[in-house]
Amino acid sequence: MYEDFATKLATTMWGDYDRTPGRETDAPEITDLSTVVVDGNFPWTIVTIETDAGVTGIGESYPSPGVHEVITDYLRPVLVGENPLDVERLYHLMRESLSGRGSQQGIGTIAISGVELALWDAAGKYLDQPVYQLLGGKMREEVRIYADCHAGESMVDAALEGQSAETYRPEAYAEEARDAVDEGFDLIKFDLDVPSGAEIQTKSRHLTEAEVEHKRRLVEAVADEVGDEAEYAFDLHWNFTVESAKRVCDAIQRYDPAWVEDPLPPENTEAMANLASKVDVPLLTGENRYGRHGFRDLLEQGAVDFVAPDVPKTGGIAESKKIGDLADAYYCPLTPHNIGSPVATMAGVHVGASVPNFLALEFHARDVPWWEDLVRRSEPLIQNGRITVPDAPGLGIELDWDVVEEHRKE
Ligand SMILES: [Mg+2]
Repeated sequence: MYEDFATKLATTMWGDYDRTPGRETDAPEITDLSTVVVDGNFPWTIVTIETDAGVTGIGESYPSPGVHEVITDYLRPVLVGENPLDVERLYHLMRESLSGRGSQQGIGTIAISGVELALWDAAGKYLDQPVYQLLGGKMREEVRIYADCHAGESMVDAALEGQSAETYRPEAYAEEARDAVDEGFDLIKFDLDVPSGAEIQTKSRHLTEAEVEHKRRLVEAVADEVGDEAEYAFDLHWNFTVESAKRVCDAIQRYDPAWVEDPLPPENTEAMANLASKVDVPLLTGENRYGRHGFRDLLEQGAVDFVAPDVPKTGGIAESKKIGDLADAYYCPLTPHNIGSPVATMAGVHVGASVPNFLALEFHARDVPWWEDLVRRSEPLIQNGRITVPDAPGLGIELDWDVVEEHRKE
């Protein structure tokens, strides 16, 4: 039923435009789309595009329930028979086919993003070119990777297991910072929206003075430990009011953080601009924003210093590059959010390689010892806090499907 509807809708809305005008008869065709979920520290949704040209494209969608159904029930019938080299046209075709059911943001965009990554991989493999080359070439030979760090368990596990303020001691932050810097990372990030033991109530988004002081001590511990060996950033995960976020920013300003991430709930750009006008630390946001349109007002209003789209969520590789280019017009660096497998990470690497104002790409899987094993390689992808931009076709990696199968989530 969905299949008929999606095909009909795409055909109705796009008419003749849903097929390449006058395309060569020997152009490759998409024959199938499928997904498999890997049980990492998040459920990583790997997207596969099969073609009749002996080329398979691999992508990844941001972890989100229902992505599999959107891809296989809605997008598959729209794309089968299409030319995988028409990445930009197919991106717009997918958006039109899901317009009205979330192609502007949310799960629809997340599903489209995963497919878009796989299209670039397929196109690169078919043309025997790395994705960065198809985007206009690389600006750099290696891409800086920054490490997301946790004291104690990850935030997700902490939420499940109810960890207490005891986990979030300054000493634990310092130890973790030391480990990450010794692994070679020169930009690290910690969660700062963590229990202090002095909470009165959290729903109001207000912080007590004792909570602000706890956060200051965590930041101080990291700063004292790493000094100028690394830059350090802090994430507040959309939790606070303008006044409380301002007090946190003021308290940690003296430690010169690289940025403060998501201090306020994500919907209100005016509030973020208001905070930006009041504080003297750099602000970052963007993992909940979709596409160029989701970043335009942030940039126009001077609400952020860094933009952090999530590549397999915000619209994919080309859309992330366009966000980077838009940000560059405001002299604002691109620092993509990333919690994905090596597939999502390599998509971020090609974006990072191809925009001038790229700063660093997140790596969120230091707690997953088999993350590197997902890729067939003799050497680790990440070395000394960098990934060398690969020259192999497409995204430049091959998954080890035995390892994928080993960690497959039903
Ligand atoms: Mg974040």
